[in-house]
Amino acid sequence: MPSSDAIPDSSPDASPVTHSREWILVTGSSRGIGRAIALRLARDGYNLVLHCRSRRDAAEEVAREITTLGGESRILCFDVADRAAAKLALESDIETHGCYYGVICNAGIHADNAFPALTDEDWDNVIRTNLDGFYNVVKPLAMPLVRRRKPGRIIVMSSVSGMMGNRGQVNYSAAKAGLIGAVKALAVELAKRRITVNAVAPGVINTEMTDGVEMEEALKMIPMRRAGEAEEVAATVAFLCSKDAGYITRQTIAVNGGMF
Ligand code: NDP
Repeated sequence: MPSSDAIPDSSPDASPVTHSREWILVTGSSRGIGRAIALRLARDGYNLVLHCRSRRDAAEEVAREITTLGGESRILCFDVADRAAAKLALESDIETHGCYYGVICNAGIHADNAFPALTDEDWDNVIRTNLDGFYNVVKPLAMPLVRRRKPGRIIVMSSVSGMMGNRGQVNYSAAKAGLIGAVKALAVELAKRRITVNAVAPGVINTEMTDGVEMEEALKMIPMRRAGEAEEVAATVAFLCSKDAGYITRQTIAVNGGMF
């Protein structure tokens, strides 16, 4: 038997991971869904590594809220599309503080247009931020996560657009579907190490990202006839982070009001 097979790492999780102040990195936690995830995880007893690209003031506000909830946090700012910057920031944070229990790859953008009008820039920016952004963040963390020899969590924010394809979102659908493939493959590689890897695929959620969406049209596609709230996505992420979800891996969990 190869030596890696001898590691009895996939046994049920016996550690009190949920309430022991484990650290979780949430990318794009200055606002929207990422902010709701950070606050929910703080309520659940985790400490947070908050991340943003440019709105440090907004991330600092989230950090203050976490303090009032009795949690600890620190802030990292970098562009997830910048591989060198992500590597530098994450490696130096881990070197100083140790590796995290989990990472939520949430930072993302969209740049919608009918395919003939889609620009090269729209394609490149959306792929680089959403898909390369996952690689740029998870790659520096993967081996440190394994070396902890403890249960861990990698959760990736996909989208209903990546599951069903969306008009005007060829770039975004490609990136979000790519994430689902990456999650499935990485989950297999890390399963024996008790590191679960899952995707969450929200539908239409009330955040700045959907500010410009024509809601009347969108609601026709949603059996529940309402947009979701960021806290509803955060609740799913919180469950996947919990010890109770220790046997769930390689999955995509839709949070979309029955859209798909
Ligand atoms: P918001 O636009 O409200 O927030 C986006 C967050 O991502 C911000 O914190 C922003 O940081 C950060 N971010 C964006 N680009 C970069 C970058 N290049 N580098 C680092 N950070 C970046 O989005 P939502 O909260 O609505 O969306 C969060 C995730 O959920 C995204 O991946 C999105 O695709 C996905 N999603 C959203 C849906 C929705 O209906 N809202 C539906 C399905 C999926 P900063 O504030 O510093 O700019």
